[in-house]
Amino acid sequence: MKKILIVEDETYMMDLLKIHLRNEYAIFAAKDGQTALDILQEKSFDVIILDVMLPYVSGWEICKKVREEDAETLILMLTARSELSDKVMGLEIGADDYLVKPFEFEELKARIRALLRRYEHTKLESSEENKYVYFNGLFRMDLDGRQLFVNQQQIELTAKEFDLLSLLASNPNRVFTREILLDKIWEINEIRDLRNVDSHIKNIRIKLKKVLEDTNFIQTVWGVGYKFNLHEDTK
Ligand code: CA
Repeated sequence: MKKILIVEDETYMMDLLKIHLRNEYAIFAAKDGQTALDILQEKSFDVIILDVMLPYVSGWEICKKVREEDAETLILMLTARSELSDKVMGLEIGADDYLVKPFEFEELKARIRALLRRYEHTKLESSEENKYVYFNGLFRMDLDGRQLFVNQQQIELTAKEFDLLSLLASNPNRVFTREILLDKIWEINEIRDLRNVDSHIKNIRIKLKKVLEDTNFIQTVWGVGYKFNLHEDTK
């Protein structure tokens, strides 16, 4: 059973979430931000359902903290309608999806299933030795062997291009800001310029397009950054 941590301070909402999810998932609950962080120190989860407005530590801060250490746990944020502009903020700090309150529980369940499916679908596959990011025969990235095949053809990437693409591809559909990409891929003693990120992305795109004309694996999210795009139509 997949494990879900629900972080929600409203008792009524928490109870409803539990009732709707407990048949399919192992549910853990935290009623405030600090408790959530304490639980996260001890346990790992497949999905965190994270309310934004919480006592002590906000959902944003929790999301940020989780992402600093772990790129794999899926995070679905719950936000109030009045906080809609926070959508971008949620994605910017590494949430995988968000839902605006009030929402239908069927919608919530569908979103969770979609997140888990998406994740399974592109999950790092481990063979005897190597880890792969694999997508429908179109895209195959051997992370340890540092090789990329798109449309059955090998693509040569520079070290930085490979690091950048493997970070994005290992976290499909998650939006990374240019700042975060710079932080994660570039060393402290290297020239740290956001335009460097853009030019590397541009080069990767050119290389991908050479073997697969209408590819849009790396998508620009305007005003935020980039994400590795896996849409149904790229299957
Ligand atoms: Ca709340």
